Amino acid sequence: PGPHPHPHIAILPTPGIGHLIPLVEFAKKLHHRHFISTTFIIPTDGPLSTAQTTFLSALPSAVDYLLLPPVNLDDLPPDVRAETRIAVTVTRSLPSIHDAVKSLHASKSLSALVVDLFGTDAFESAVELNIPPYIFFPSTAMTLSLFFHLPELDRTVLSEYRDVHEKLQIPGCAPIHGRDLIQPVQDRTSDAYQWVLRHAKRYRMAEGIVVNTFQELEPGPVRALLVKENGKPDVYAIGPLIKMGSSNPEINESDAISVKFLDRQPNGSVLYVSFGSGGDLSHDQIVEIAHGLEKSGQRFLWVLRCPNANPNASYFDIQSSGDPLAYLPQGFLERTQDRGLVVPLWAPQAQILTHKSICAFLTHCGWNSVLESVSSGVPMIAWPLYAEQGMNAVMLHEDVRVALRPRVGENGLIVRDEVARVVKGLMEGEAEEKEIRGRIRDLKDAAANSLSENGTSTKFLDELAEKWKRNNSCK
Ligand code: UDP
Repeated sequence: PGPHPHPHIAILPTPGIGHLIPLVEFAKKLHHRHFISTTFIIPTDGPLSTAQTTFLSALPSAVDYLLLPPVNLDDLPPDVRAETRIAVTVTRSLPSIHDAVKSLHASKSLSALVVDLFGTDAFESAVELNIPPYIFFPSTAMTLSLFFHLPELDRTVLSEYRDVHEKLQIPGCAPIHGRDLIQPVQDRTSDAYQWVLRHAKRYRMAEGIVVNTFQELEPGPVRALLVKENGKPDVYAIGPLIKMGSSNPEINESDAISVKFLDRQPNGSVLYVSFGSGGDLSHDQIVEIAHGLEKSGQRFLWVLRCPNANPNASYFDIQSSGDPLAYLPQGFLERTQDRGLVVPLWAPQAQILTHKSICAFLTHCGWNSVLESVSSGVPMIAWPLYAEQGMNAVMLHEDVRVALRPRVGENGLIVRDEVARVVKGLMEGEAEEKEIRGRIRDLKDAAANSLSENGTSTKFLDELAEKWKRNNSCK
């Protein structure tokens, strides 16, 4: 191919809309600031959800995408873990990934192939075609530091990590109990653990890793990641990359219901409750939350899904069937109608968090949700469910101290009194809660600063883009 004035890159997202959102923001930013354009190569295991289709149809012109033919996952057990499902979708798509990368490279001369979380199996194609391989890490610097450290933990710790008595030391991070590490490493005999370990070992093949965090939020882990070592990729902390509420002019009818409800509430009075795109709770837990919210006496906006026995199941199909409202306690909606709204399945979260009526966020600690909350200056109640959410909760509660954390009872449930206690505490409390509010305000400013012209995240992004531009001009 002849010389191309502006670099073009390919991004391989692994399935799940939570992954796609920050990657698209990344692509938009690369174009806006550096005229770098992007093609997404999207592996699939069936038709896209409506949310994904709507999202992709709204991409700007500098961001293109192609859908790979769906792979068949019928042989996987029904209770397969999300990590395995994601990783297998990528490995089974490898032939079509290779063809797509090859033909894009022939027409556009790619300056980088960027994969996310569990996409490193595509690196062989990149190396064969002489395209620099990169990773976009959609989570914390702390989790990335764990990924680099995991092969050593795997060699040196003989038991399950959760059974290690002392706290573990991940480079640059506050010491952490094995039981608080990411969920897929909790059972070392599982497929999910083997997949995570395999990818963690392959992370060193990358030329660079882009991480969706910012230095001021995680100074220790980012510093540790920046330490130069032989064979260690360069790390670029370019976050927070989030979907901004105000940039979405089209609002559909069901989204409008949430916003109109918030418009009617007093400033800083509403608790937003959501467990992300895949967070399912047991029916018992839904009932406890409902009673807890009722007892707290606070205003709330709750995005509710149907209960599910498998917490990962709906991650891939956000339109689970059935009516979630049917699982609420008898009379709950009527009793709380003057101060609460329950929205089935999906709400415009980014818009909600920036709304002036919002006071606090009860969140599953998915990283996008956390970044959106931090960027909007909204303090959190940390209620982790799976993936790396437990680690995020520890960081938010113990380290950054911008979240309260409810106590889990012996039966694994967070009971109604505890729900009411933390909700009331965060929304009405004094002392500790006031400090949390102060810290989240500072963090909101730090997030905005990191993205400003001379901010740390902007500098990392510029450094990365300049490297890609140099690669391009060397061709
Ligand atoms: N989201 C949303 N409405 C919902 C649920 C989720 O807009 O009802 C968005 C949310 O704003 C975030 C993403 O979907 O950008 C969820 O990502 P996160 O990392 O928080 O959690 P995951 O869904 O991946 O567990």
